Amino acid sequence: MGANLDLFDRAQRVIPGGVNSPVRAFGSVGGTPYFVDRAEGPYVWDAEGRRYIDYVQSYGPGILGHAHPAVLEAVTRAASAGTSYGAPTEAEVVLAEMVVDRIAGLEAVRFVSSGTEATMSAIRLARGATGRSGIVKFAGCYHGHADALLAAGGSGVANQGLSGCDGVTDGAVVDTVVAPYNVVPAVNNTIAAVIVEPVAANMGLVAPAEGFLEGLRAACDATGALLIFDEVITGFRLARGGATERFGVTPDLWCFGKVIGGGLPVGAFGGRWDVMEHLAPLGGVYQGGTLSGNPLAMAAGRTTLELLDDGAFDRLTATTTRLADGLVSAFGGAGLTSVLPQVGSLLGLFFGADPPTDFDEAKVVADNGVYPKVFHALLDRGVALAPGPYEALFPSLAHGDAVVDETIQIAADSAEAVAARF
Ligand SMILES: *Cc1c(COP(=O)(O)O)cnc(C)c1O
Repeated sequence: MGANLDLFDRAQRVIPGGVNSPVRAFGSVGGTPYFVDRAEGPYVWDAEGRRYIDYVQSYGPGILGHAHPAVLEAVTRAASAGTSYGAPTEAEVVLAEMVVDRIAGLEAVRFVSSGTEATMSAIRLARGATGRSGIVKFAGCYHGHADALLAAGGSGVANQGLSGCDGVTDGAVVDTVVAPYNVVPAVNNTIAAVIVEPVAANMGLVAPAEGFLEGLRAACDATGALLIFDEVITGFRLARGGATERFGVTPDLWCFGKVIGGGLPVGAFGGRWDVMEHLAPLGGVYQGGTLSGNPLAMAAGRTTLELLDDGAFDRLTATTTRLADGLVSAFGGAGLTSVLPQVGSLLGLFFGADPPTDFDEAKVVADNGVYPKVFHALLDRGVALAPGPYEALFPSLAHGDAVVDETIQIAADSAEAVAARF
């Protein structure tokens, strides 16, 4: 028995489904998940010693590639001074200053330990600040697994084929309105907040239509609702200043995660002072965390953001374009029609002709059965995509041209193999 299968069998005896996050179980592509032994730069190695060019990159945190030496050094140095104190540190102040400096319109920020905590806290804060209960979210957008936000979620929720979620009470979602992405919804004065992924990256990749984000801003302004950008994926990836810099639309609150932790557990939410001052101890909205602002996590986040200068975003976008163009022709060469929607360094992959504009369209192409075949053909040949058709691809700064070109060659071979079996 191979080491991956052996580990998966052991895991399933003591961990539900054998995994600590559902998509990792390969449910939507079939087969046995590879267990990672180690990683470096663009590569991961599994428990059987096989190397993969990795486009999962922890679903986004690995923007520098795995095990970047500067990040490792910063984390090691921080660890040698103790791993958690329950008291404030300079490292938290420095990372907060960096976030305030980079994101135009964001005046204060608080660190938490995951993207889920960031969105959950931002929703509570929006409700506390406005005195209203309603929230609007968009179908196919994923905002982590807080009860009120699970309705019609993308990413793992979509991969599981769950429209809702057992255990989430009617009461928990009664104030949640789900609207189609890319259509400005009706917003009335019962709505505390509209939460949106400014580029939807959990239903594959769906770009915001012209005027959509501006329309949300205007609809919120007209009724006093707060606009929340969930930038857990787009933040510090789309541009130094995230979606606000890219699209010129400024929300009231932002949520961050993934890149901001450089591979350690970090989330953050921030906004204008007149909203953020509702948080305890200044105001009446409670929010806290034993490991919030953890010194190892702050060190990893700080080092990662320091390495992401404007040139880094340009390089990453160029890498992404090279990959996207190469994959379209590699797949097309074997008769597989694909479309790779791209916004900066964000990249999706659908086996269809047209880029989807909302969740209904995304589901039709994501579930047409081609993705799992191509996924396994690639994996067999040493390229790891996410094990589900609703995830984005995450090329990193460690994916040099040679690695991208090798990927494209492998994709051409994989597509031939898949086409031969149709
Ligand atoms: C991943 C993700 C989250 C949840 O973050 P976790 O760290 O997994 O809790 C929230 N929003 C978006 C847009 C995400 O991609």
